[in-house]
Amino acid sequence: MNALINTVTGTVVPGELGPTLMHEHMFVQYGGPSAEYCRPGRPRDEAVADCMEYISQIKSHGVESLVDPTTVDLGRNAPLLAEIASKTGFNIICCTGIYSTATYVRLRERLGGSPEAVADMFVRELTEGIGDTGVKAGFIKVVSSAPVIRPDEHELLLAAAHASVATGAPIITHTDGVLGDEQQRIFTAAGVPAHRIVIGHSCTSTSFAYHHGIVQGGSYLGFDQIGMETVLPDEVRVDSMLKLIHAGWASRIMISHDSVWHWVGGPRMGTGQHKNWKPTNFFERIVPMLYYGGATDEHIQTMLWDNPRRFFAGEPTSPIA
Ligand SMILES: [Zn+2]
Repeated sequence: MNALINTVTGTVVPGELGPTLMHEHMFVQYGGPSAEYCRPGRPRDEAVADCMEYISQIKSHGVESLVDPTTVDLGRNAPLLAEIASKTGFNIICCTGIYSTATYVRLRERLGGSPEAVADMFVRELTEGIGDTGVKAGFIKVVSSAPVIRPDEHELLLAAAHASVATGAPIITHTDGVLGDEQQRIFTAAGVPAHRIVIGHSCTSTSFAYHHGIVQGGSYLGFDQIGMETVLPDEVRVDSMLKLIHAGWASRIMISHDSVWHWVGGPRMGTGQHKNWKPTNFFERIVPMLYYGGATDEHIQTMLWDNPRRFFAGEPTSPIA
């Protein structure tokens, strides 16, 4: 059992996580962080200030930890995250992994053409650190799209599986709301225990049968785009969540917003059509809807607190009858 979790400022034990948002991006810049966000100066200071403001907002709702699945090609900026974590005393867990298949193919070719070399890079970032930053990744993030898992995506999922088996690190994925069951089959066939997998963006699907299949397979469902109403109204996600809760599966739901706190060239959260897309939306709007639908404080505690702890601790999920 992998009892120590890498945060960007050192290790913690699972019991230290507390209420945790499982998928929020603090800083995003496609292609990697540019120089101005890596050296001291106004652009970087503004990014830090934005992130510190959102941390203080979620702290006021009792959140103590944050999982940031920003990959290298989305602009992962480990020193920036470490600075924010040490200034706020907040647990931030960052990832290794790859978001776009084009990046995967480029990297694989640069590393000599083999998927194993990519898996080795994931392992290095989990065990030795990201470049020379001294920051170690705490999990692996990979992606598949729709309508099928393409050969390069399949290879990338397998590289993640190999790195996970080698290190015991868990995996959190991106999906387009479909094929999460297929991701689960690929990972588990390669030896990853199902309870070490969060199928991300599962809340984009409205199919109870799809959710049921992933739960039955032993993994967690990411209800991690709450407030992203340009994709789906919150009421629809809440409806899916309540169906799962009433079926006894609060123990498989992970909560988050997929919010982006400082997105270079991207939209701004909390305004216009993005008005509910912000890291406090769950607490402000969704919790009352869940209460109204019959959910209890205990369900909310299970989703926000117990599930992230059990996931990072590597505790097996209980089988579904
Ligand atoms: Zn995301």
